[in-house]
Amino acid sequence: MMVRRAQQAPCPKHWSVLLAMRYGCQGNHWEDFLMTKTNELLSSEALGFDPDALAQRYAEEREKRIRPDAETQFVQLSHDSPFANKYLEEDPYSETLERAPLKDQREVIVIGGGWVGMLTAARLSQAGIGDVRIVESGSDFGGTWYWNRYPGAQCDIESYSYLPLLEETGYVPKLRYSYASEIYEHAQRIGKHFDLYKDAVFQTWVTELRWLEDESLWLVKTNRGDAMRARHICLGTGPANRPRLPGIPGVEQFKGHSFHTCRWDYNYTGGGPTGNLAGLADKTVAIIGTGATAVQCVPALGESAKQLYVFQRTPSSVDVRNNAETDPAWAASLKPGWQRDRQKKFGEAFLGGPIDPAFVDDGWTRLTRNLKDLVAQSEERISGLAQIADFKTMETIRGLVDDTVKDPEVAEKLKAYYNQFCKRPTFNDFYLDTFNRPNVELVDVSASQGVEAITETGIIANGQEYPVDCIIYASGFEITSSYERRLGIPIFGVAGKSIYEHWQAGMRSMHGLMVSGFPNLFMCGGGFVFQLGANYAHGIDVQAGHVAYTISELSRRGIQSANVSLDAEERWIADQLETKGGGFVLGGSPDTCTPGYYNQEGTSKRYRNVRRETYSKGVGAYMKLLRAWRDDGQLDGLDLD
Ligand code: NDP
Repeated sequence: MMVRRAQQAPCPKHWSVLLAMRYGCQGNHWEDFLMTKTNELLSSEALGFDPDALAQRYAEEREKRIRPDAETQFVQLSHDSPFANKYLEEDPYSETLERAPLKDQREVIVIGGGWVGMLTAARLSQAGIGDVRIVESGSDFGGTWYWNRYPGAQCDIESYSYLPLLEETGYVPKLRYSYASEIYEHAQRIGKHFDLYKDAVFQTWVTELRWLEDESLWLVKTNRGDAMRARHICLGTGPANRPRLPGIPGVEQFKGHSFHTCRWDYNYTGGGPTGNLAGLADKTVAIIGTGATAVQCVPALGESAKQLYVFQRTPSSVDVRNNAETDPAWAASLKPGWQRDRQKKFGEAFLGGPIDPAFVDDGWTRLTRNLKDLVAQSEERISGLAQIADFKTMETIRGLVDDTVKDPEVAEKLKAYYNQFCKRPTFNDFYLDTFNRPNVELVDVSASQGVEAITETGIIANGQEYPVDCIIYASGFEITSSYERRLGIPIFGVAGKSIYEHWQAGMRSMHGLMVSGFPNLFMCGGGFVFQLGANYAHGIDVQAGHVAYTISELSRRGIQSANVSLDAEERWIADQLETKGGGFVLGGSPDTCTPGYYNQEGTSKRYRNVRRETYSKGVGAYMKLLRAWRDDGQLDGLDLD
């Protein structure tokens, strides 16, 4: 990959050194010098890998996995689907309690009692709005941390930045990366601290939202026969509230035991979140999926099951965990404002800014670190270096597989060949080693683009039947599918118009929060926040504070109805379209990445106009923008009544 400098044609102006190298053209004198330096730095010998060969391998691996049915390959778990009861509505962790339907009125109804709903309610309470009811499908607060109790469940973002409201509740997590039970307990701590239990209703699914124009109120109907009214609605349903099943032929036929990871059946498996699944000692178990969830629960399954088959379509990148207990002296030294400061620094380190010492060994900053190293060595910022840094990062992660997995054939199958943020990175110190166990078999189903079929007694893959007692679906959630699919609540606004009709040509909003024709409705969290950085909990707190301000301001001014004007919606969309790099969901471009939920399963059809759903200037810019709107005090863009 060296540039031959004699008899070469000149490069077009502004070409990067990498382009020049690729096409063998020659730049000016200074560029020549840089090219030599860069050649040395980027030679296969110096790098230890051949970037061209890797690029080709990535493209081939992607091609192998592209399915024309994209998102429709999954079974939708709506409340009227035949699977809904088993995989969505049944709560394996609690008895269903009877209660009388509610027909009362509240200032605010928050739908969802996970981080988004709780943060919104907490910030509302701080802003003086106490008449808030949270409506939650689980039997307690926690949302994703209520439902996801599978063994090994853990948060991949460091706890000090991720767990919300630590300073307000006076809590410091026990570990650098918390396990799910500690996080779930923290949700209850927040609930008690902000007195959110008082008015909450649990075990309740909202079935319809309707704006009552004559009353300037929302009518909230639920599966419990409720018909509650509220001045304001905050949709805090979060990104992972709705599990999905792979649409494998025969999925409904299996007569053994099965469950989704977010409804873990400990009555069947025995044990608990720390493992010891004694009920599986005589069972042959299959797990379908190898995403972030499977990476965390496979070690416990491998330890306990008589036989475990892991059906893998695409390997995850599995980096080291580096967990540690919290140093009590450090915890005691924390000064007011520490959590916000830490969240800010985490965001900066992840997004390529300065790397605070606290994050130099955090897996989310590995790519930034590699890029900074290369930039420092190459003496000038060169655009193509980002790709080289990504190759380096993934080579290191692939190297971990070789270091851990003894069988080279199995190791090869476990290596991820795509850019790190094409798919959700994972971090675990036990997953790879599980494949050294004699009772664990990795079944690579990439050749058939997934498991071929499910029978009454087992799984068919690569033309072979695997008889199993239990199938565990680690097949993920409706995270980036259409909002209608992931939310599943019919919403009718002014003149009875459906929000999904309003979004026919793509989601529309102002600030990713309010929608024209749907007064007093706030979409908190959701896909929009993802672009704000890896720490979801930080992004949603930004929105929670803003929503709390807006509602308290409307209430203070005695305003009954605040409706975003179409013009304001258009202005926001125009701003989004101008935003550089705002064209894809999360990290993965559908054009170059292996498919997954980050890129709507590789679909290049941008039918949801995701530019309007995301904000890619980062959390800092978004915070600034919202702050300026609040400081202006005009409630700009809202038609007020
Ligand atoms: P994912 O959507 O990431 O993974 C689903 C898995 O199922 C993939 O491996 C997918 O393969 C596989 N799959 C789907 N269909 C088939 C099929 N027909 N045959 C074989 N395999 C199939 O779901 P997860 O539950 O793992 O993770 C979802 C998200 O939840 C994470 O990305 C993360 O955001 C969040 N999470 C967060 C954690 C935290 O630390 N806070 C911990 C765990 C999860 P393929 O990749 O080929 O599509």
